Amino acid sequence: KAGSFDYDVIVIGAGPGGYVCAIRAAQLGLKTACVESRATLGGTCLNVGCIPSKALLQASEKFEEANHALADFGVEVGRVKLNLPAMLGHKDRVVEANVKGVEFLFKKNKVDWLKGHGSLKGAGQVEVKGQKDAKTYTAKHIVLASGSTHVDLPGLTVDEKQIVSSTGALDLAKVPKHLVVVGGGYIGLEMGSVWLRLGAKVTVVEFLDRIVPTMDGEIGKQFQRILGKQGMTFKLGTKVTGAKTGKQGVTLTLEPAKGGETEELKADVVLVAIGRKPFTDGLGLEAAGVETDERGRIATDGRYRTSAEGIYAIGDAIAGPMLAHKAEEEGVAVAESLAGLPSHVNYDTVPGIVYTWPEVASVGPTEEELKAQGVDYRTGKFPFTANGRARAAGATDGFVKILADKRSDRILAAHIIGPEAGTLIHEVVVAMEFGGSAEDLARSFHGHPTLNEAVKEAALAVDNRPIHI
Ligand code: FAD
Repeated sequence: KAGSFDYDVIVIGAGPGGYVCAIRAAQLGLKTACVESRATLGGTCLNVGCIPSKALLQASEKFEEANHALADFGVEVGRVKLNLPAMLGHKDRVVEANVKGVEFLFKKNKVDWLKGHGSLKGAGQVEVKGQKDAKTYTAKHIVLASGSTHVDLPGLTVDEKQIVSSTGALDLAKVPKHLVVVGGGYIGLEMGSVWLRLGAKVTVVEFLDRIVPTMDGEIGKQFQRILGKQGMTFKLGTKVTGAKTGKQGVTLTLEPAKGGETEELKADVVLVAIGRKPFTDGLGLEAAGVETDERGRIATDGRYRTSAEGIYAIGDAIAGPMLAHKAEEEGVAVAESLAGLPSHVNYDTVPGIVYTWPEVASVGPTEEELKAQGVDYRTGKFPFTANGRARAAGATDGFVKILADKRSDRILAAHIIGPEAGTLIHEVVVAMEFGGSAEDLARSFHGHPTLNEAVKEAALAVDNRPIHI
């Protein structure tokens, strides 16, 4: 089928970008292989990212509920006890089911898994180094989907025991007395929430003067207030300049971001979560003539073509938000264009979600960004305190905010903090994909009583006519 080549397509990396690309290419009749060096498929996301973190968030949320929240509903459960090994076991089983699922899908779609480390070797050639030997395969097209890895902080050496990355934070042997999270982004706040619920004191140290800096300002403020109410403490405008580890734990040296007196902060465990960077080690980019940009990302054009003929790149390894669903859509787009189909990814509607309690979700620019761009917009807001279903669930923290173009009423963005925000955002994503207006959302039926009614009311509020507030 692949002519004089071993394959039509070889994908390097089996994360959400790579495995989805490989499956879609195979569905379209292309002879496809996917190289993965990890012992299991699914990449960062399924093994040490999205999936295990959500398994622990879900489990710790249940613990927290049983511990504190159920009594309000008249459910008395007596003394609640944490069985951490069982909770981690739940997470491991969820991961295993997911990674095995991808293996099944590869078999079903006849995608060959080439086990080992892949590197580019001249035009159309990929060398795969396994545990014992190396073999070179040829392909008409090569897709790089090598993903990303955590960014290190100078002076803090990650040992995955006392100083951990998100990977270590998913597998702590016991609940730390004091967990210090360096970095107030979504990964730090999600993992911080898990261990806070399980009984740790959690301090978040952030260089900037606010958490989740890319998020809408109003939402960010509310988010910090709610997490604070739950017991998380914040040291903003502060940088970590060094760490000493010993039997007694870790002693961090902190300094105001603007300079000034240093102070010490003791912790049992320190989670370094200051961001992620593209991972391209040993891919052989230079030899193949694949260029990277100033931030080490593989440079691509609007159709995911790199600077080398026949080589494409997608996912966390290229520019754009480092999110699994962004990687997946790019994987599908590349596979479809390689099969001669039209393809397109609409980056205006990529949702971003933080899976804490409450959840935070957004799509489109922040209000600050719209202001800076000089866009004339109207705002509609609706609080969950005025939503019947949220009251019934005892989850009234947060609000929905919709931003629409003042003249055309087209929806530009939505920012939600509240129960199920990550699910609610998707009706706005779909409306935006169809170029919908706030009026379209406002006139659409929303079942009663649902949390979604808060989205409808926010859309009504864009035109100053909400009913329930
Ligand atoms: P990856 O998933 O990183 O996969 C790349 C794969 O390529 C890896 O398995 C690697 O072993 C393999 N590889 C690399 N180089 C080679 C080579 N030369 N040869 C062979 N194999 C190679 N995103 C969300 O959308 N939602 C979330 O809730 C979410 N939660 C997260 C939580 C955490 C703790 C972390 C760390 C990340 C989270 N992310 C989340 C981000 C998400 O995991 C990434 O955006 C996503 O995995 C990117 O997919 P990818 O296919 O580009 O790369």
